[in-house]
Amino acid sequence: MKIMKFGGTSVGKPERMHQVKDLITRDNEKKIVVLSALSGTTNALVSISDALAAAKKDLAKERIDALHQHYLDFYKALLKTEASRSKAEKIIKEHFEFLNIILKISFNEAISRDILAQGELLSTKLFYTLLQELDIPAVFLPALDFMSIDENSEPELKKISERLKVILGNYPEDRIFVTQGYICKNHRNEVDNLKRGGSDYSASLIGAAVSADVVEIWTDIDGMHNNDPRVVNKTRPIAQLSFDEAAELAYFGAKILHPASIWPAQQYNIPVKLLNTMEPDALGTTITKKEMGTGVKALAAKDGITAIKIKSTRMLLAYGFLRKVFEVFEKYKTSIDMITTSEVAVSVTIDDLSHLDEIVKELEGYGLVEVDKNQTIISIVGNLIAESKGTLAKVMNSLAGIPIRMVSYGGSRHNVSLLVEAQYKNEALQSLNEGLFEW
Ligand code: ADP
Ligand code: ASP
Ligand code: MG
Repeated sequence: MKIMKFGGTSVGKPERMHQVKDLITRDNEKKIVVLSALSGTTNALVSISDALAAAKKDLAKERIDALHQHYLDFYKALLKTEASRSKAEKIIKEHFEFLNIILKISFNEAISRDILAQGELLSTKLFYTLLQELDIPAVFLPALDFMSIDENSEPELKKISERLKVILGNYPEDRIFVTQGYICKNHRNEVDNLKRGGSDYSASLIGAAVSADVVEIWTDIDGMHNNDPRVVNKTRPIAQLSFDEAAELAYFGAKILHPASIWPAQQYNIPVKLLNTMEPDALGTTITKKEMGTGVKALAAKDGITAIKIKSTRMLLAYGFLRKVFEVFEKYKTSIDMITTSEVAVSVTIDDLSHLDEIVKELEGYGLVEVDKNQTIISIVGNLIAESKGTLAKVMNSLAGIPIRMVSYGGSRHNVSLLVEAQYKNEALQSLNEGLFEW
């Protein structure tokens, strides 16, 4: 069994959906095909939900109508026969009727998540209709029947696996299964999701749940590049990464992978491949447990970081001080990304600001607290970085003109992280690209 996940751009145009059909029928292996929403749809759904949250119903209606038109154009270019076109019309009607009904009822968070789920429901149903039109045997697997998260929004892998095995057991002869990425049920049995970019996470969880041979993430680029191609001029794909390296890159901002998408595959030792739908025979990136090569392999940047400094001449040297500081973050379920300490102060970074005020208030009981928003973590990822000579010197030389707020080195063998103000991010990535890689 293999998992093939296709992202928004891979299904975003009718001709691309046909290409996906070609890719999933190239071999006769059993596969679960995980689809994202068409590119742009989830953003549009977020903007509809935002308009409703702000009680701007006319704006929401305008956005719903524009999206509706997009789907009407899409299915006509996707499908040929009258029978399948009328199926698609019905599917689109059903989902847009739902959105129009929401306009009339009072808005809440659960409804917002229902709105966000429409994209993956539409893309998979339209794709399944295409397979039916072409007489390609396949089974439609609703993700809401098996994918779930608990009260802490953590996926329930054991339950997902049990449910999937029962469902798949009903179709011993079938080879192609089509399901939605991103969406799930929560502990209140409401529709929920795995956060933006979550279809990668779905694919990896499904791979772990069925002990797949490989999880293939098909996207619009030929694998993980050594730097963010949206920001930096010259980047190149990396053929091989270890799970640890890929996890660090995903967590620290490489958008090609959802931040949590590596651990399920890593836990069950399932190789992950990053492949390009537009260039299916390109090598891509293979992620396995094998650690290869030494030195820096790639850079990534994570935006929206806040640094918190707690300064205390009296307390810091006392044992138990750090525990007290960490307990505050634990109490508010806010995870810390970076830590640096000195004789009189400790600095940490967080990206979840939902409890910032409460956290600052409690920390003020231990010392003087300073908060710096709009920071970016630049992560330098590779193998045995701390052991490879001269890396840190090259990093610092490359960044000679940029103020660095924090440095974290030696915490793992795979990562050096630096904190800079967001305004310096692009310059830092570009300078490090030139200073750390040979071209
Ligand atoms: P999908 O819709 O297929 O999930 P995403 O847009 O989520 O695709 O991820 C692919 C995009 O990630 C690429 O088009 C690229 O712009 C961006 N990206 C950011 N950092 C990297 C990187 N280090 N390597 C490759 N792509 C990256
Ligand atoms: N459609 C969702 C998003 O845009 C999930 C995904 O594409 O992975 O965030
Ligand atoms: Mg993505």
